[in-house]
Amino acid sequence: VIDLLVAGGGPAGLATAINAAMAGLDVVVVERRPGPIDKACGEGLMPGAVRALGELGVPVDGHPLDGIRYVDGRHRVQAAFRCGQGLGVRRTALHGALSRRAAELGIPVVEGVVDEVRQDARTVTAAGLTARYLAAADGLHSRVRRRSGLHRPPGARREARYGLRRHFAVPPWTGHVEVHWSARAEAYVTPIGPGLIGVALLTADRAPFSEQLAAFPSLACRLHGRAVTPVRGAGPMRQRTTSAVAGRVLLVGDAAGYVDALTGEGITVALTCAPHLVRCVRDDRPQAYAHAWRRASRTYRLITTSLLWLRGHPCVAPLIVPTAARFPSVFGAVVNRLA
Ligand SMILES: Cc1cc2nc3c(=O)[nH]c(=O)nc-3n(C[C@H](O)[C@H](O)[C@H](O)COP(=O)(O)OP(=O)(O)OC[C@H]3O[C@@H](n4cnc5c(N)ncnc54)[C@H](O)[C@@H]3O)c2cc1C
Repeated sequence: VIDLLVAGGGPAGLATAINAAMAGLDVVVVERRPGPIDKACGEGLMPGAVRALGELGVPVDGHPLDGIRYVDGRHRVQAAFRCGQGLGVRRTALHGALSRRAAELGIPVVEGVVDEVRQDARTVTAAGLTARYLAAADGLHSRVRRRSGLHRPPGARREARYGLRRHFAVPPWTGHVEVHWSARAEAYVTPIGPGLIGVALLTADRAPFSEQLAAFPSLACRLHGRAVTPVRGAGPMRQRTTSAVAGRVLLVGDAAGYVDALTGEGITVALTCAPHLVRCVRDDRPQAYAHAWRRASRTYRLITTSLLWLRGHPCVAPLIVPTAARFPSVFGAVVNRLA
């Protein structure tokens, strides 16, 4: 019997598997798509994520990120990371780096879909494989989360938000991740390479990328005619869970719940929670993971939920950037809390 079966070979799944192999566990990953896997993502790795990848022995190439800048047309504020650099990294490059490390550790990555999950007192079976535990890292719309009864429907009070991402052959004009704010959307600009930037639009409006980009005239002007990848989308972003654990099934990454991409934290949270999951599996204490996950993801959930709440109020939202510009040390403290 395998120690740990991992459903999904995205950053959360591969990081969990690498942690498990490094802890001496026998681990297998089941991933439904062939690599290199791309995804709608802002592609900004916070310093915490860069550090976690280093600890896993995963070298990644990317564009150094110095901090975060907010812009709204009239105001601008930026904060430098104080605890190391972030990295702008193409998702395909991140997947390649994690896959190479997994291969180096001899972790089998099997192509397949995890659908039905069965568990008894000692084992869990999915995709024809039996293991002591299953780590569900199958993303935002996790099937395993639903199958295990851990999915909590979204509250009716919040508008669903979506993300759209596209790359442009434009040299980065800053080492900061630049977040442009408009009345209904945010545009995240991440430097990815010497001649490449990624733009992620986050919004509750369901309209094409080009239409949404028009809400940011100066950015649209800079990017005009320079798109080099098709648009990729994801959402609704907000996904809730009742717990991160159901018996021998443990959720990690977006599968464990997601608030919003507004703070660009998803990969950091996934990489931070993965070692907790592995420790709980190794110690045969799956229930301890529910608490560990809550603790490890708390700051992200709190800050993102608060920012999203402010964003959702038409009288308050226009004050976010001017207020951050007025109190740059508070802005810096929040950025560094997340970083
Ligand atoms: C628009 C947008 C911008 C973002 N920007 C950032 C950012 O700048 N920085 C950041 O850190 N985070 C960002 N995020 C969040 C980040 O993309 C996610 O948190 C991260 O991808 C989570 O990794 P994961 O492995 O949990 O899920 P995923 O990356 O979605 O991987 C899940 C994997 O599971 C596989 N899978 C799914 N179902 C099954 C199944 N049934 N069986 C087998 N395999 C399956 C999928 O093919 C996929 O490979 C952003 C998100 C969005 C939507």
